[in-house]
Amino acid sequence: MKKTVLVSGGAGFIGSHVTVELIEAGYDVIVADNMSNCDRTCFEGVKKITGREDLPFHLVDFCDAAAAEKLFSENKIDAVIHFAAFKAVGESVDKPLMYYRNNLDSFMNVIEAAQKNGCTNILFSSSATVYGEPDVVPVTEQTPRKDATSPYGNTKKMCEDILQDCVKASGGSLKGILLRYFNPIGAHPSALIGELPRGIPNNLVPFITQTAIGKRECLSIFGNDYPTEDGTCKRDYIDIVDLARAHVCAVARMLDGKMEQGCEIYNIGTGRPVSVLELVNAFEKVNGLKLNYRFAPRRPGDVVAIWADPSLANEKLGWKATRSVEDTLKSAWEWEKHIAGR
Ligand code: UDP
Repeated sequence: MKKTVLVSGGAGFIGSHVTVELIEAGYDVIVADNMSNCDRTCFEGVKKITGREDLPFHLVDFCDAAAAEKLFSENKIDAVIHFAAFKAVGESVDKPLMYYRNNLDSFMNVIEAAQKNGCTNILFSSSATVYGEPDVVPVTEQTPRKDATSPYGNTKKMCEDILQDCVKASGGSLKGILLRYFNPIGAHPSALIGELPRGIPNNLVPFITQTAIGKRECLSIFGNDYPTEDGTCKRDYIDIVDLARAHVCAVARMLDGKMEQGCEIYNIGTGRPVSVLELVNAFEKVNGLKLNYRFAPRRPGDVVAIWADPSLANEKLGWKATRSVEDTLKSAWEWEKHIAGR
């Protein structure tokens, strides 16, 4: 029997790529989203890529406990992947209550409704932000978490704790997986789904592609006096399709009864540090264009250097990042051109 996976926040950037990979791996998927930070572009793209015109979609705000309960009681759901959350770091500093209320309430409602209705497998989309500025790189899952530097980061830490506590309290019936993403970038090779930032992008790659297409005048590289080889920050940029496939492996591990602990944690990254300047150079080279950029002051709160040790995910999930940063940057550019031409 086919298993059904609910993807909360499934119309967004990561959720839509995960939905495609789940369908291609043979799962039935239910997409739910309140559409607060996206339009129907990616959901329509997912249907096109997978040929699933009948893909179920539910307009649900998971902060509404009754709506969450209704969704779980009316559908047989074997596992849920929870993405539905606000994600803008700066906005979270200005509107902490909005972030705590949305990101915590929605997750607690999902856990409660899932447990009540016999869905015992919950995967939470966490972030490398929980490591803060690490003392040692690369970071393993044992690297201590640091105090969050924003309410957004804090909601990731708190949601991790909430799921772990619920798993503990369930006496073995509830299973949880926390995936800590590094920096997801790029788009599906079809260029039918990708990142759709609202307003001025906060993240590096959408800012690069919008500058290249002429939507932004100039990319500011925040800081070139950091203690790294070229003075710019280093990150672990992971291809969005690679990242999405990690979710398929994690769901399979849960549903096939392979988990060794009630709640497992995995770093989802490449293990390859890339500086901002290296990324910009790679973008120019692979796409054959010149990017208008300048060096600007450091951005407050930025971590100097962080990248993953992904060996636990490689071993236990049987998953590995496969795409080069060049291929990923090509896909990001194809996507930008696709949305510009709409
Ligand atoms: N960055 C930059 N210019 C931008 C956006 C980001 O130089 O317009 C840098 C940022 O300072 C950081 C890196 O790019 O060193 C990745 O930033 P992003 O916001 O994408 O991810 P995060 O900071 O969450 O790792």
